[in-house]
Parts: sequence; C-alpha cells; structure tokens
Amino acid sequence: MTPFSAQRVLTDLTEQRQIGAYKTGLHRPSLSAAHMQSLQWLCEKMRAAHLDPIIDGIGNVIGRSAAAGPKLLAGSHMESQNYAGWLDGPLGLVYALEAARVINGDAKGAAVEVVAWFDEEGHFGNFLGSRSYCSGLSEGDIDAAIDRTDGRKLRDALAKVGLAGKARIGHEPGRHIGYLEAHIEQGDWLETRKLAAAAVTSIVGIWQFKITIDGTQNHAGTTRMAIRRDAGVAAAKLLVAVDTRFPEVAGPRTVWTTGRITLEPGAPSIIPGRAEILLQVRDADPETLLRMERTLIELVAAANDAGPCGLRVEALRKSHPAMMDVRFQNAIIDAAEKVAPGRHTHLPSGAGHDAQILSAVMPAAMLFVPSIGGISHHWTEDTSDTDLATGAEIYVEAAKMMLGCQ
Ligand SMILES: [Zn+2]
Repeated sequence: MTPFSAQRVLTDLTEQRQIGAYKTGLHRPSLSAAHMQSLQWLCEKMRAAHLDPIIDGIGNVIGRSAAAGPKLLAGSHMESQNYAGWLDGPLGLVYALEAARVINGDAKGAAVEVVAWFDEEGHFGNFLGSRSYCSGLSEGDIDAAIDRTDGRKLRDALAKVGLAGKARIGHEPGRHIGYLEAHIEQGDWLETRKLAAAAVTSIVGIWQFKITIDGTQNHAGTTRMAIRRDAGVAAAKLLVAVDTRFPEVAGPRTVWTTGRITLEPGAPSIIPGRAEILLQVRDADPETLLRMERTLIELVAAANDAGPCGLRVEALRKSHPAMMDVRFQNAIIDAAEKVAPGRHTHLPSGAGHDAQILSAVMPAAMLFVPSIGGISHHWTEDTSDTDLATGAEIYVEAAKMMLGCQ
C-alpha cells in the first residue's frame, strides 16, 4: 500500500484552486470553461491513481477501477457557487483521490472509485448529477433545466462542451459497498470546540412553505384606517408570531428563514391587496419538521380567525432527512480516534449534499472538517493546512476500515 501523504493532498488542493481562481476563492460555475478544465485536471489525477475516468452525458466524472475486490465510491463536486470558496466540493475529490492512491493496488483487490457529481451547487437544478446516477432524473428534467444566472438551457450548455448525446452512467447495484463524501463543515461547531472531524449523522430535510395573504387593494390617502385590509401588515404580524412561537417548539438545531416577501402591487400609495411569504424550515429530525409545520398551520389559522385579511399556507417542497449509515459513522469515529484522539464528534448536516441522494441506493457517510469562522459560499472560505491534512488522514483511514483493508 502507498503511504498516506499530507503534502500530496495539500499540493492537489492548491493546484485545483488555480483553475477559475477568484480572489482567494473560486468562480467555477457548472459547465463553464473553468469547470471543464477542473474536470480535465481531475481525470489526469484519476489516471495517475490507476482509475479509468469517463465523463458521462450529464457531466458526472467517474473513475473506475479494474480491481476485483470490494469497491468504495467516494467523491463530491468540482463546480463552485458563483464567486465562492476553494474547498466546497474539491476537498471531497482531493481526499477521495488520496484514498485511491493509498488503497488501490491493495492485495485483496479493494479499491476506491472516485466520482465528481455534476452541479451539486444547483446552477441548473437540484443534485442533477447524483440524481442521474441514482435514476432520479428524466430526459424531461434535463430538457427543462436552465442556468439560474444567465438563463441558458442545460441541453445547449451540454452540447457546447461536447456532451450532447453521450450516455449517462447509472448506479450498478452491488458494485459498491457504499459511498463516502468529505466536506468542510460550513459552520463553526468543530472550530469553536477545537475538534478535527465529525461523522455526519444525517442530512437535514428542507421544508418550504408559501403563505398567501389576501387583503383589499385601495387608495393610501382616502381609505380610512378602520376599514383597511392591508396584506402587508398581516404578513408582518404573522412573521412576528412565527418569531415568537417557533423557538418554543423547535429542536436544538432547527433553523427557519423568510427568504422572500412580496407585496402586490408594491407601490408607495397603494394599500397592498396581496402578500406572499416564502418560509423555509430545516431540521434533521422528521418529528421536529412535522411539529414546525403544525405550528405554522396553527399560527396561520389564528391570524385568519383574527382577520381582517385571509391567510392560507401550502407546502411547496418537503425533502426528507437522509440518515447516514451507522457502521460507516463508526468507521469514521474509529479512524478519527486513531489520527486525532478525542478530537471528534457526531454532527447533523444543515446543508444538502450528494450523499443524501446516494443514501437512497447504498450506505452513505460523510466526514466534516472544520471551516474557519464557519464561512462558506463566500470567497473567504478557508480551513487551516493542519486541519486539511488531519482530515485527509482520517478519511483515508476510514476508507480502509470500510473496505476491511487496514
Ligand atoms: Zn459542497
């Protein structure tokens, strides 16, 4: 077995951050020239690790091994958010490459197969690459997908980079013992406690609601206050009630966000006749999500009864929390104990990751490493070299344990 090399990991991370560099971060949107160049870079690294890379028809890059023993699928994503950080995504690929270099060629024929999922960051849609691999993406979904920044069609963008008409690679049942993904925490839990790593327990469910409020549109100067039905005021009152009541029923890590409030017609001299609120709730516990939903429904009903406006709520999206495999979590904790004794924990993930899609078809696990200041989706995103190196060593040890080849 090739010995683990922290220096090789840091060199890879530094090399990839040159491709699409923006300040100290990256601007590498899906299917941009920089993104395609980063995939070529990855293919070369895969070949050097004795993997045979293929870019499929949705832009997934999969490096396959001809080894006959057990195989672990490992990876993350190479594209970035616009003008964002250098580790969100690439960290998981660089760790997977190092695990492949160390493990592949093992006497038992165990191997790590490395994968870069297309568009985890959602420039064109939600988890398009991993959903495609797990059979959750139709041709119609691809036809309908457009870039949220510039409006170009995914079909056109795929054709431009030469991927039109290429087959998509699907999950082969039985090929892999499971999936492993490393990621920066994107929060400050590990950093503030001086911990080196976390085994992720579950990935949050995201429930999104639309609250519609009907008032009466009228003249701002001539309508007496006593007879007004101002949808804007009703929206504000409801959100104050949410802010008061939600903390009483939330779990310790429940978060909620009012991402958008719109008033119609939205003019200074017109009483708003209609308001719309988008409210998102995230938690890793299905019971908590249900409790938050019931509370929201109660608050909306109470506001409706109190009048004068009419309120109603509908759920727009409910993704369910994805549980990470317990045996794999144990392997991550055992590996962390070996490399960084006492400096590890379990954490739920408040952000979505490809591992949640993979968990539907195979055991899946995630390793978190610290994020400085918890900053992510911003070009200042960073992690110390020491933490990057320690995390990589834990990852490689965990992969060995999962494959039974320590
Ligand atoms: Zn990511």
